[in-house]
Amino acid sequence: MKKAFEILRDVKSVVISTVKDGIPQSRIIDIMDYDDGGIYFLTGKTKPFYRQLKREKKVAVTGMNKEYVQVRLVGDVHEIDIRLIEKLFDKNPELEKLFPTRNENDSFSVFYLSNGKGEVFDLSGKENKMNRVRFAFGKDTVNEAGCIITESCIECGKCKKVCPFYAISEGTPFVINPKLCDECGNCYYACPVSAIDLPKGI
Ligand code: SF4
Ligand code: SF4
Repeated sequence: MKKAFEILRDVKSVVISTVKDGIPQSRIIDIMDYDDGGIYFLTGKTKPFYRQLKREKKVAVTGMNKEYVQVRLVGDVHEIDIRLIEKLFDKNPELEKLFPTRNENDSFSVFYLSNGKGEVFDLSGKENKMNRVRFAFGKDTVNEAGCIITESCIECGKCKKVCPFYAISEGTPFVINPKLCDECGNCYYACPVSAIDLPKGI
């Protein structure tokens, strides 16, 4: 989880999505800081983004670094004490140049994403061809990644032969390693007895 926050802070400018009248709305937002419990970002109180955050209190966050390590989060946000803004300006000196007159009004707001779940999807190739780690923070719970082989498996081995990520092991039933599964679906379509369930998403 902390690794995911570190990556988002390092990428800094990430995509944060909300929903307005049932329609997704995405924009690039800077991650200003993080701690053990979540990530911090700012917005202006006059922006539609602010009103969507206040109304829906939910966001999706996506970012990817130069090594093709992606982070996805979904979770709950809340507005926090505006006095924290001084600390965020200290940690992000470029803000001083952008908003030199910030103290003359109270147009900013600070939001904290402190409850949610997500995954780090590592396509850097450093550990494996692909590596996926799911996590949750606050009161949320993890949805395990990947397709799932059920008890209906007759151990024919067809799924293992078509898996491009070497994620399937023999067993009774055969087993998919969720950290290695790309959710590509090759095994799902190859299984002669429909023994494979589709992934649940984060
Ligand atoms: S969905 Fe794709 S990556 Fe995952 S186990 Fe099946 S074949 Fe392998
Ligand atoms: S293809 Fe289906 S039945 Fe065959 S080993 Fe894989 S999950 Fe089991």
